[in-house]
Amino acid sequence: MDEIRPSISTGVFQELSPEEEIRRLVGIGWRYLEINFSIGRFGRCEAYRIKRLCEDLGVSVLQVHGCNPGMARESPEERRKFVDQAKTSLLWAGELGAEWVVLHPSNRKAGRRTPDAFEEVKERNLEGFRELLETAHSANVGIAVENLPPLLHDSMEGERLFGTEPSELVWLVENAGPERMGVCLDVNHIFAKCQGFNQYQAIRWFGRPLVATHISDNDGFREQHLLPFMGDIAWRTVMKGLREVGYKGLFNLEVDLNKTPLSVRDDLLRYALRLTEEMIQGDI
Ligand SMILES: [Zn+2]
Repeated sequence: MDEIRPSISTGVFQELSPEEEIRRLVGIGWRYLEINFSIGRFGRCEAYRIKRLCEDLGVSVLQVHGCNPGMARESPEERRKFVDQAKTSLLWAGELGAEWVVLHPSNRKAGRRTPDAFEEVKERNLEGFRELLETAHSANVGIAVENLPPLLHDSMEGERLFGTEPSELVWLVENAGPERMGVCLDVNHIFAKCQGFNQYQAIRWFGRPLVATHISDNDGFREQHLLPFMGDIAWRTVMKGLREVGYKGLFNLEVDLNKTPLSVRDDLLRYALRLTEEMIQGDI
C-alpha cells in the first residue's frame, strides 16, 4: 500500500450477520475492513463467499483478526487446541486474500503469571509463532502480533504479562521470522498514565516492523475502545509518529459502538469515517 487508508474492524453491528454488516459498512462509505474471524461465526468454507461479496462491493479486506494462539498455556491439550484454531484462521485469511492476520501473544492464566514463568512464556511464544509462520507461509499471509494491555480482565496484583512492552514484540518478530511477521499496534492497549510510555513512543520504537493498527481512544488508565478524541490519547502525536516511521498500512478503527441504538449507528460510523479521513490527511 502506498499510503495510510481508513479502515474499520467488523463487530460494530453485532446484531447483523457478517454479510449484512459488510454491506452496511460499504453503504456508509468504508472501503477497507478488518474482518474479525472467530470460530463459529464463520464456517471453514465460507472464505470464498465472503471474498466474492467483498469483490462485488469493491471493499478490500487486508487484515483479519485471527484466533489467539494460546501457545503458552500450561495444559498441552489447550496449547494444541488454540494453536490449531490460529492455524485455521491463517488459512481462512489466505483464502480471503488478506495480507495480515493479527494475533495476540500468549500468556498463562491469572495467578500463574509469575516472574519465573515469564521466561518460559517468552520461549513458548517464540516456538509457537515459528510454527504458525509455516502455516502463514503456505497460506501466503503475514502475521501481525498485537501488543497487549498491561492488565487483563482477570489480572491479579503483581502479575507480569508478556507482549505489553514494545521491546518484547520487537524481540519476538526479529527472532521468529521478520520476513513474514510484523507488529499490530493497538493504541488502546497502552495505558499511557500507568506504563511510562505513550503511543507516540511505542510507534517510534516499533518503526519498520509496524504493519497494522487498531485505533480507538482511552483515558490513559484502562481499555475503553472509544472513538478518537473521546478519550485522552494525544492523536496529533500518534499521526506524527505514523508519518515519521513511514507507516503505510491501515488506520483501522477497533471501536465498541454496540450500545448505540441501531437506528442511529450508521450516522456515528459516517462520522467515524470522516474523522479518520481527516486525521490521515493531517487536517485535525
Ligand atoms: Zn486490538
